[in-house]
Amino acid sequence: MGGKVIKVSGPLVVAVGMSDANMADVVKVGEQRLTGEILSMSGDRAAIQVYEETSGIGPGAEVFTTGNPLSVELGPGLLGNIFDGIQRPLEEIRGIAGETISRGIELPALSRTKRWAFEPVVAVGTRVEGGDIIGTVQETSVFKHKIMVPPSLSGTITEIKQGEFTVEDVVAVLKTDSGESVDIKMLQRWPVRVGRPYKKKFVPDRPLQSGQRVIDTFFPLAKGGTAAVPGPFGSGKTVVQHALAKWSDVDIVVYIGCGERGNEKTDVLMEFPELKDPRTGEPLMKRTVLIANTSDMPVAAREASIYTGITIAEYFRDMGHDVAVIADSTSRWAEALREMSGRLEEMPGEEGYPAYLGSRLAQFYERAGCIECLGSDGRQGSLTAIGAVSPPGGDTSEPVSQATLRIVKVFWGLDAKLAYARHFPAINWLNSYSLYLVNLRDWYNSALGEQFLKNRTAAMNFLQQEAELQEIVKLVGQDSLSPQDRLTLETARMIREDFLQQNAFVDIDNFSTYDRQARMLDMILQYDKLAREALKEGADMKAVFGIEARTRIARAKSVPEDEYIEVYDRILADMAEQIANAKAGGEEL
Ligand code: ADP
Repeated sequence: MGGKVIKVSGPLVVAVGMSDANMADVVKVGEQRLTGEILSMSGDRAAIQVYEETSGIGPGAEVFTTGNPLSVELGPGLLGNIFDGIQRPLEEIRGIAGETISRGIELPALSRTKRWAFEPVVAVGTRVEGGDIIGTVQETSVFKHKIMVPPSLSGTITEIKQGEFTVEDVVAVLKTDSGESVDIKMLQRWPVRVGRPYKKKFVPDRPLQSGQRVIDTFFPLAKGGTAAVPGPFGSGKTVVQHALAKWSDVDIVVYIGCGERGNEKTDVLMEFPELKDPRTGEPLMKRTVLIANTSDMPVAAREASIYTGITIAEYFRDMGHDVAVIADSTSRWAEALREMSGRLEEMPGEEGYPAYLGSRLAQFYERAGCIECLGSDGRQGSLTAIGAVSPPGGDTSEPVSQATLRIVKVFWGLDAKLAYARHFPAINWLNSYSLYLVNLRDWYNSALGEQFLKNRTAAMNFLQQEAELQEIVKLVGQDSLSPQDRLTLETARMIREDFLQQNAFVDIDNFSTYDRQARMLDMILQYDKLAREALKEGADMKAVFGIEARTRIARAKSVPEDEYIEVYDRILADMAEQIANAKAGGEEL
């Protein structure tokens, strides 16, 4: 027995006669069988968020519950795919319906006809538990998909196959302790609003290496950590996100486009498939899943998209991989939340956002972490969550930015002024932060030596002193500064221009290994140290500032990868000699 619609307000539909339904059930509305989800129930009356355009639906239309919560399909075929917010495969839908999604189209997320070569890794008689890997599928040329026993199952394998199968074919049979035989297929389902289970969560203690110097050296993100990138339009959010997707040392990237900038919503659909994986030369899509809300989808679908995305990410994490989720932008997502809340006539909080904005954001970011996966092999995985925030006018005092800042541990504040001055990445070093430095200390000390963190602190100090000195310069001019202070300004400028600025579109510069970053920064600080001593001993300021080696420091970022160690050592040696000459009153070079 179905219910009947009594009210339609945009994406919100209210129906009565829904006593057989439960909160969070997926329902089908009207003749077109539009997909919706129950947001709240009171008696037999259900408030339903519909994920498709509701025009044509009116009072009296029938509503049926599917009895299931909003779920995603998990299995081979996720990678390289583009899904909408409720995991409908966009390419296939386009194939059927043309450019605009016709309503009520029901297509399985994962192909039912494609065959995958399943390689078993367990034998009949093996005892398995939830999470154990029973076989693998080479899903793309760069990724081997692991087929796992679903979380709540355990027992003994009584049958295991090898060969080509669809995701719905039985690849193994398991006998549970109570004697029941259960078929295992490559396809699993999981409700998106529930985090997938794991054994243990750990404190993140390895950096996510992004190759972006301002991120890795100054404001590092840990694998399994959370970060926010707020920034006004044109400040380089897209470039930063693409750089993270391309260069981060993670196995899988899930990119969630929550609908940005009016009509350009489909940008990611065009841009992402073009990106090349710099490590393999293959399309980045071979290890990427894209969730996109096209412009013809109502805002409600945005709300679901971040859960759809993070659930898919958890599934890959559960295989024992490092996964990154990039959500762009959580502001658009929050606006969808606000719109639904308004239609539900809930009590509005700050700027009309619902009072639960903060807890919903937390529910998303809380699903990040480093974990020990289910299964008996002790493998570990990580899920890193990065959310872009697009505060109107770039003003981060608004509710979405503020709520996000209370949750995430890394803040990369993109700055319109820096972008205008063409300082890229335009991450403001004075207000950005990372709370992972303490957790990463051991990693840094053993991988890069203890000097690295000392140098980082010193560099940050130079930049802060620069900001203070610039205030003085504004008042009384540069000539009133002592030579030592003048040097501080020079060093800070080198840190900004020769180290922090990094061009995403220049081949060698777009990625720096940690070792290279450490050496680059050390070179600049070595210069400062030698120059400072020389000035103290009365050396000529101009001569010290003007040494030739400095021009080579400025070009150090474009030295080819296989030469940089040698070149940097040469610069260090020449620099020492040239400063010594300057001190001795020798020729200026
Ligand atoms: P947003 O997404 O915030 O509106 P974009 O990411 O599109 O901004 O960046 C705007 C422009 O800034 C880019 O087209 C590019 O010219 C420049 N830009 C941003 N980041 C970098 C970078 N790391 N290196 C070089 N140019 C950059």
